[in-house]
Amino acid sequence: MDDPSHLVNEHTIKQALKSNEFRLYYQPKVDLTTGKITGAEALIRWEHPEYGLMPPGQFIPEAESSGLIIPIGDWVLKTACYQVREWREKGLFPIIMSVNLSVRQFYQPDLIDRVRDILEETGIDPGCLEMEITESMMMDIDVANEVLRELKAMGVQISLDDFGKGYSSLHYLKNLPIDKIKIDQSFIQNCTQDNNDATLVKTMIVMAHQLNFEVVAEGVEQKGHVAFLQRNLCNEAQGFLFSKPVPAQEFVRKMHIVDRV
Ligand code: C2E
Ligand code: CA
Ligand code: CA
Ligand code: CA
Repeated sequence: MDDPSHLVNEHTIKQALKSNEFRLYYQPKVDLTTGKITGAEALIRWEHPEYGLMPPGQFIPEAESSGLIIPIGDWVLKTACYQVREWREKGLFPIIMSVNLSVRQFYQPDLIDRVRDILEETGIDPGCLEMEITESMMMDIDVANEVLRELKAMGVQISLDDFGKGYSSLHYLKNLPIDKIKIDQSFIQNCTQDNNDATLVKTMIVMAHQLNFEVVAEGVEQKGHVAFLQRNLCNEAQGFLFSKPVPAQEFVRKMHIVDRV
């Protein structure tokens, strides 16, 4: 059963939420100077009783169009924050937890209240929470700016995902209250072979740093990528070289492996 699309509709997604079939997997972010894991990106999966583990690409679009992304997004945020708390209570490690926001969620009038409630309920340090947003959310730049400023005022960090894939220039982004950019994996893939990609990555890093943004590279799959990124002073990296996204327990085991870069 390769194409699960017939299993995915508004009704089945609603049912899955009720039956608690969604899971969060965590992928580490690694500091390129220390080699330490400094963060985790929470990525949703659907543990479908018939299909098995379904990746987000198979059901997030339907969740978006049906509006169910709102309760799902809420569940993601809550689950990720409770995970941070659990790890903190166990005295494990301080990490920054990144959560992906969808466009619908971002423009939901009560987003700020929901985030505040969840932070309060879980009691975690807001600085441990990071929201990953994309350029496509900036369509109403004034509203976007307002939402981002309110999140920042709470102490939440903001990261701009899939950077370079869209059309906006850094010039346009320089006034947004964001902390980090994540260079899209399509640029990283060939950065050690393709001169144009290498130039683009280097330029993005330099410009981002000049605007005081940190830089995360995503889709890091090879040691050569790491060497290239270190030479060019990229701050953090994420990708299959370090780990694919894994369940919480496995993530904890990975934290103890040293010498990553
Ligand atoms: P994204 O936010 O850009 O997440 C990165 C995707 O790249 C993930 O796919 C991850 O598994 C994959 N990846 C990580 N390292 C590598 C690598 O080294 N090589 C390659 N080829 N791929 C790598 P995933 O988990 O299938 O997620 C796909 C997209 O679904 C995400 O893209 C994000 O846009 C969306 N998504 C995932 N979880 C959520 C969620 O909780 N809420 C919302 N709204 N969207 C989500
Ligand atoms: Ca992301
Ligand atoms: Ca991305
Ligand atoms: Ca994305």
